[in-house]
Amino acid sequence: MKILVINCGSSSLKYQLIDMERENVLAKGLVERIGIDEPLLKHEPAGKEEVKISADIPNHSVAIKMVIDALTHPEYGVIKDIKEINAVGHRVVHGGEKFANSVLITPEVKKAIEECSDLAPLHNPPNLIGIEACEEVMPNVPQVAVFDTAFHQTMPDYAFLYGIPYDKYQKYGIRRYGFHGTSHKYVSARAASLLGKPFEQTKIVTCHLGNGASIAAIMGGHSIDTSMGFTPLEGLMMGTRSGDIDPAVISYLMNKEGLSAEQVIECLNKRSGALGISGVSSDFRDIEQAAEEGNPRAQLTLKMYAYKVRKYIGSYAAAMGGLDAIVFTAGIGENSISLRKMICEGLEFLGAKIDDERNNVRGKECEISTPDSKVKIFLIPTNEELVIARDTRRIVGWERPMS
Ligand code: ADP
Repeated sequence: MKILVINCGSSSLKYQLIDMERENVLAKGLVERIGIDEPLLKHEPAGKEEVKISADIPNHSVAIKMVIDALTHPEYGVIKDIKEINAVGHRVVHGGEKFANSVLITPEVKKAIEECSDLAPLHNPPNLIGIEACEEVMPNVPQVAVFDTAFHQTMPDYAFLYGIPYDKYQKYGIRRYGFHGTSHKYVSARAASLLGKPFEQTKIVTCHLGNGASIAAIMGGHSIDTSMGFTPLEGLMMGTRSGDIDPAVISYLMNKEGLSAEQVIECLNKRSGALGISGVSSDFRDIEQAAEEGNPRAQLTLKMYAYKVRKYIGSYAAAMGGLDAIVFTAGIGENSISLRKMICEGLEFLGAKIDDERNNVRGKECEISTPDSKVKIFLIPTNEELVIARDTRRIVGWERPMS
């Protein structure tokens, strides 16, 4: 069974074709600048050279057709015929309260995704466009939606509600939803397996530290809290996002600088976080280099970042009443040796001790705590595409004959 995984943005489309027999990636790639000037398809077939194809790509349907052409190309293709694709799994950012699980896409599901667009206006509309483009090109192939929010639908009400009038939740759905669900789900399940314990008996904090960053408390295999909220702006300080702030700062800034609420939110989304504090970059590689060269604001950025992550880890250990493991994943979590060390310094009271030698590693699944550390610390590279493909397989049914 071969599953095509699609992650569609407003002007981009990422894909992976996965053979589910061995769960190996046959090809992956990215179409950039769809509908803009100089669009480009980068196609990476496993074991072959990367191919770059430029063409006129006015919309996502054309992009999908190009992806299929690349996948079936006699030279750099990996399958002979489009019919070899048994199902398509789509990443959909917001499933609101409607979707606590992945679903087979039907006209009703599409309508529900559209209704959730209000909550994720930048993400859900392009996700829907990707779904419709695939339906057009592969009309008889089952399509599955896998939601970023679904894994966090197990949060209890006392964790997901804000302390604002209850009718705002009832009327508008204002509550915490959480994101990066597929990543938290994957790495926490891997951590349970590395712990050698049934998932149902584990207490795990997962730190997804990429450009966007979130932490989750996974108890008994279920997310019981996570740092992102109504939107991906809440929680940790991120590359360009502020994370938690006092909401009164918004009106204060509006008055001081004559800005609209949207302009302040844009600043909090795009010019804050590590970029805003360091004044150097939103990329932690640049910030770490500047810090090493003695830039005090870059040094401050790293301290702030580590402090905020550490605070969340401590609070989630308290929320779960204990902790078996801490997991680091995504760009920073998988690669920044120094930030992992800074974050873990001071967590010894919880029984979590990082091992400097074991921590000297990037992008490889391994344990990085000392042998006597009561709480295990793991580096686990995330694999959101694999979660999407597995959910898609489960939903369309491995045994069922495909049309
Ligand atoms: P996203 O998928 O959210 O765009 P990623 O998970 O790819 O983000 O993470 C991107 C972040 O990872 C960037 O801030 C980048 O600086 C950081 N990163 C990647 N490699 C390293 C490294 N070697 N050291 C420190 N940070 C790194």
